[in-house]
Amino acid sequence: MRRLRNVKIVATLGPSSSDYKTIRALFEAGADVFRLNMSHGTHAEQKVRHDIIRQIEADTGRPIAILADLQGPKLRVGTFAAGAADLEEGEQFRFDLDPAEGDSHRVCLPHPEIFAALEPGARLLVNDGKIRMKVVHCGPDFAECQVTTGGTISNRKGVNVPDVVLPLAALSEKDRADLEFACSIGVDWLALSFVQRPEDVIEAKELARGRAAVLSKIEKPAAERAFDAILEVSDGVMVARGDLGVELPVEAVPPIQKRLVRKCRAAAKPVIVATQMLESMIESPMPTRAEVSDVATAIYEGADAIMLSAESAAGRYPIEAVQTMNAVAQSVEGDTTYREVIEASRQVKRQTVADGIVAAAREIAESTDISAICCYTQTGKTVALIARERPRVPIIALSPETVALRRLCLRWGVHTVHSEEVERFKMAVVNAARAARDYGFADETNQIVVVAGVPFNVQGTTNILRVAPCDERLIFRTDPE
Ligand code: PEP
Repeated sequence: MRRLRNVKIVATLGPSSSDYKTIRALFEAGADVFRLNMSHGTHAEQKVRHDIIRQIEADTGRPIAILADLQGPKLRVGTFAAGAADLEEGEQFRFDLDPAEGDSHRVCLPHPEIFAALEPGARLLVNDGKIRMKVVHCGPDFAECQVTTGGTISNRKGVNVPDVVLPLAALSEKDRADLEFACSIGVDWLALSFVQRPEDVIEAKELARGRAAVLSKIEKPAAERAFDAILEVSDGVMVARGDLGVELPVEAVPPIQKRLVRKCRAAAKPVIVATQMLESMIESPMPTRAEVSDVATAIYEGADAIMLSAESAAGRYPIEAVQTMNAVAQSVEGDTTYREVIEASRQVKRQTVADGIVAAAREIAESTDISAICCYTQTGKTVALIARERPRVPIIALSPETVALRRLCLRWGVHTVHSEEVERFKMAVVNAARAARDYGFADETNQIVVVAGVPFNVQGTTNILRVAPCDERLIFRTDPE
């Protein structure tokens, strides 16, 4: 089973997609990575989904990545005596720490960290930004605000505070328990919400202890401002456009998406574009033209992956949503403009031998009729560098390490293949040629490029590029080793 596209598809699992039959159908339709959203469901429910994915892996022989998305701290107002209150533009409204039920003049905001960070002029957004206020006056246990956009505020609605860095860790107690649970069952990636600074990511990585790679969700203006430092310590990034579009004007999101995708590509770190990509497919079997265009834009930008949230987790057409993404990806990537755009947006600083070798592999693939670039890898690092080149031909990653292969499922253009451990380069070439033929990337008349590091099983030794025939008899005849 192979994909006929480079961009990867992440499908969130939920009530619409929790049994073997549906998850298998999602996988066959094109999902490469499954997302467990830790904001919903119990550990027992997530474990069932995890075990089904691993069963599908065993049944199909294909590595599959699992991404556990941690909820992050949720900031919410308290309750109202009448359940809700109507607020008009221009009125004053007070948030405080008094647990008494609220009314149209005040409500409890049980988060002293917010009051510690607020300053006059800062905005408070309630209920996904539907109600908006500006702080007029504040202290350690209150904030007097002016309502700038009115509406009905009701019990326990969420609050966003976009203008200040909150003295809050990205990991709540629940997140720590979820992280430990996710690592203990063996997920491949963790997505960290509420990232504001690099220290948040470092903390999550320390807790994960290498058991899962950590991807930073960029959903706050503070994270966008500190992006370079956050990217440096992250294993990957998610452009979390839902929260980003609440905390910032919606029109600020597309330029940010473009910037983040470019920076991730340059840093050889995988980037997922997420949220509302095919939102109408929650209810409809057909996407809107605008949604298709949005998916296409992310693909033209060269994102590693595009993501479905409620469409596959709670929608009526989860499989059709994956099929739609798959079809859009094949259409876009088959367009000649796609290659032009991808090549024009390649920004790579090459400093190491490995950088030079992977660039040479791409150049050879561009100027000859090479069928695939194959890489024998332990950790996936060289494969990441090949993927950064965004080559014209498929990338085949061969490894004896299941964990490395699963993590690579999120990477642009990479087809993962489990391989036995090899001692000699010739066997790596033979295995690569076999994989290229077995998965339909090449036949015996074709040639491949093989990249590896010798001696094997030593990190950071990428030092060989070999153009090899796919006919094994020729490999044995022409290779001295
Ligand atoms: C987002 O805000 O876009 C996002 C992906 O986060 P979540 O769905 O977890 O709120």
